[in-house]
Amino acid sequence: MALTHAACRANRGTDFHGEYEPAAPAGELPRAPLRLSCVVPAYNEQANLADFLRLLAQTVRSLTSEFEIVVVNDGSSDGTHEVVMGLLHELPLHYLALSRNFGKEAALSAGIVHSRGNAVLLIDADFQHPLEMLPEMHRLWQLGYDMVYGVIADREAESGAKRLGTELFYRLMNSGNSVKVPPHAGDFRWMDRKVVEALKALPERNRFMKGLYAWVGYKTAALPFVPRDRAAGISSFNLRRLGSLALLGITSFTTLPLRVWSMIGGGISLIALAYGAWIAVEALLFGNPLQGWPTLAASIMLFSGVQLMSIGILGEYIGRIYDEVKQRPIYLVAHDADRSPLRDEA
Ligand code: UDP
Ligand code: MG
Repeated sequence: MALTHAACRANRGTDFHGEYEPAAPAGELPRAPLRLSCVVPAYNEQANLADFLRLLAQTVRSLTSEFEIVVVNDGSSDGTHEVVMGLLHELPLHYLALSRNFGKEAALSAGIVHSRGNAVLLIDADFQHPLEMLPEMHRLWQLGYDMVYGVIADREAESGAKRLGTELFYRLMNSGNSVKVPPHAGDFRWMDRKVVEALKALPERNRFMKGLYAWVGYKTAALPFVPRDRAAGISSFNLRRLGSLALLGITSFTTLPLRVWSMIGGGISLIALAYGAWIAVEALLFGNPLQGWPTLAASIMLFSGVQLMSIGILGEYIGRIYDEVKQRPIYLVAHDADRSPLRDEA
């Protein structure tokens, strides 16, 4: 079920962050006329892409005549490439084909780097992000918001496991972290050029975009929406892939898991000290009969498990550091067909 534009407006009173309709910030110049870059990551989207890009272009045309669509083919193995090539002369496209599947975060980074508009829209190719919201995003941008993002208002359609996982993830992510990642906010966003430049300036290779958007800050507004069903094909994010994305988010944005183990270690040491003291007292008072083998065996097993787990968590962080120090590019472009009308003005 999709939330219509009107319903979306009706929702705004409760779901907006901060003030909904601020006066334009004092002394700030009004925005320049819109020149929009739409970034569309596409992985095996041959069935959706042609219809989607045409509809996107039609919708954006009602906002501005100056726009480009940056399509990033993230190593698709279906006919996505042919579909986009066929549209090159019909739509104002900048087509980038990555050399293999680098993942959505990398595909978005590629699109952001190559975008040239004074505002950038990130949108999925599968019709899940309602195009009806674009005029509202545009309006909020004009009002002075630098980033307008869609927040999933209803996850009814998702499986119980996915919802539980999402809930746990945001809890963990936002506990003890000074940068709060807004829960249920996805990659459907409208960003001002200054946000885009800030994102481009972040050097990390592990690009957990939801964290990076939150980290850069700026004036943001949230728009609740209910994602539509995927038009065709299936989601590339199964539970395993979502799990590894969650792990990336947590290890890139919080060191809480490391601290937890220090705390557990401290707690266990205290208990061990107290127990040691008790054994000494017991031996002095009652002698020292040979006792406690089961306790010993059980505690050795428990603490070896605890140690292995904590080493594993350290390993996750070291793995991230290893990825960063290798300094490999985030993505490689194999094919770049640039028919963007914003080309000359960049
Ligand atoms: N996508 C991508 N690279 C990937 C996986 C997905 O560029 O490795 C794109 C995909 O084509 C779509 C968007 O990212 O435009 C969202 O993907 P999907 O619909 O599979 O995920 P979900 O909507 O279930 O989060
Ligand atoms: Mg989708």
